[in-house]
Amino acid sequence: MDWIEEILIECPQCGKSFAIQIETAEEGTVQLIEDCAVCCRPAAVSITVEEGEVTGVTVEVS
Ligand SMILES: [Zn+2]
Repeated sequence: MDWIEEILIECPQCGKSFAIQIETAEEGTVQLIEDCAVCCRPAAVSITVEEGEVTGVTVEVS
């Protein structure tokens, strides 16, 4: 089974969507900093994983 999932997030700085890859092997909430693929500014991404599936994504200005 593949524990990498690609999700789309919306950049809080420029409003464009871009894809990031996350691991879903671990349950709980993961927080990471991703640089926007469009404007290159960092966004703080918080992802909730339950039973191998992404159940929540929030993006904030880092
Ligand atoms: Zn951006």
